[in-house]
Amino acid sequence: MRVIVLGAGVIGTTSAWYLAQSGHEVMVVDRQAEPALETSFANGGQISVSHSEPWANPTAPLTILKWFGREDAPLLFRPRAELAQWLWGLPRRNTDSAFTLALYSREQLRQLRRDTGIRYDFDTRGILHLYEDGDEFEHARKQAELLRARGLDIEIKTPEGCLVIEPALKHSIARVVGGAYAASDECGDAQVFTRALSDLCAAQGVSFRFNVSVKRLEAARGAIERVVIDDEKGIEESLRAEAYVVALGSYSPLLLAPVGVSVPVYPVKGYSVTLPLEPGDEAPYTSLTDHARKIVISRLGDRLRVAGTAELNGYDTEMNEPRCAALVKRCFEWFPNAGRPERAQFWTGLRPATPSNLPLIGRSKYSNLFLNTGHGTLGWTLACGSGRALADIVSGRKPEPEFGFLGFETKTKRATLSVTPHPTA
Ligand SMILES: Cc1cc2nc3c(=O)[nH]c(=O)nc-3n(C[C@H](O)[C@H](O)[C@H](O)COP(=O)(O)OP(=O)(O)OC[C@H]3O[C@@H](n4cnc5c(N)ncnc54)[C@H](O)[C@@H]3O)c2cc1C
Repeated sequence: MRVIVLGAGVIGTTSAWYLAQSGHEVMVVDRQAEPALETSFANGGQISVSHSEPWANPTAPLTILKWFGREDAPLLFRPRAELAQWLWGLPRRNTDSAFTLALYSREQLRQLRRDTGIRYDFDTRGILHLYEDGDEFEHARKQAELLRARGLDIEIKTPEGCLVIEPALKHSIARVVGGAYAASDECGDAQVFTRALSDLCAAQGVSFRFNVSVKRLEAARGAIERVVIDDEKGIEESLRAEAYVVALGSYSPLLLAPVGVSVPVYPVKGYSVTLPLEPGDEAPYTSLTDHARKIVISRLGDRLRVAGTAELNGYDTEMNEPRCAALVKRCFEWFPNAGRPERAQFWTGLRPATPSNLPLIGRSKYSNLFLNTGHGTLGWTLACGSGRALADIVSGRKPEPEFGFLGFETKTKRATLSVTPHPTA
């Protein structure tokens, strides 16, 4: 079947890969000049099954109150954001579903590495979660018990135990009350991965059209008839296929709303800082999650990536100096000798978040329109599993993991597509 994938981020590209593996003829289109130049460009790098609980967890309201009015707050809600959306009681099943998909996705990523030998500055030393606050650590301890019962190897650590796992913490361990170590989690560069996978896709016959902008979908008789783009020269062109996959990240709702598909996907802005490392720099090797500030720190080859902060402020992608400076400052509080701050490169991206923190994967109300979007804080972690499941659904197979895929009845029920009108629609 001929399939057009809209979007060449990590989600669109993994979708294309697994669709091609299933024997489909695939074309990917994107407005950028290369894959992964938007949200998949410089994220925190974590493949984090152990963090399948969203940051909008029961401790989030306290975090927001504690930091209220500060520009460098880890969670920042600008006035026009719908705070209530994010603070509604998150049912347990959301965490369970995200966990199931994350675990499946990590297996798919490992399988892909074995099958193709793909390289992307990855590291398999695990993820160490660090806590400074007693209550948050207690919550983490209970969470770890639940995850362990479901098969994840996560262990609670004393500060001394954390230091054994990551000796570079020696200057800052005094502030840590405890940690949780997920030895089988990983990290790696999502952009390098996506670019390498797009090369592998091309070698399998997938075609890519970059520098083209998707303008609209046109539907008739319950199916999508064509997608209209502005081509490389800005001239309108129609593309036709038997199936269409929307993987436009935060921009998915803007394309879908005019054809009557309302998806609760909201842009949540985040920042990252990348520090080039030199021999002798005392930077960590183990990927870390700093729960007090909701930031992650990953070594990606000879670079240190520090990422985090969540800001609800529409599609604004302006760089905010205090927020970048806060990430750098925090990194050097942990690791005073981790390179030179003046060499830091800043980046900002929009997480395609849903209030439930679950992505939307599956068939829409149109028979040939499929969604793979809304991966929020965990898009890199969930990419391979989501791509594989999407390809299964397009091919008429039931995906393996027990997850609330759209258009599939599973034990896990989930909200339907039209629950929340998009604020910009
Ligand atoms: C600061 C930060 C840290 C993060 N850290 C982690 C982490 O450690 N681990 C993790 O698992 N996840 C992390 N994430 C989340 C992860 O990066 C995202 O969930 C993921 O990149 C989303 O991928 P995507 O392919 O859906 O979106 P994108 O990468 O944005 O891809 C969408 C593509 O669609 C294209 N596009 C959009 N509109 C149009 C149009 N009209 N026409 C043509 N093309 C269009 C864009 O050019 C883009 O290439 C982080 C995110 C941020 C912001």
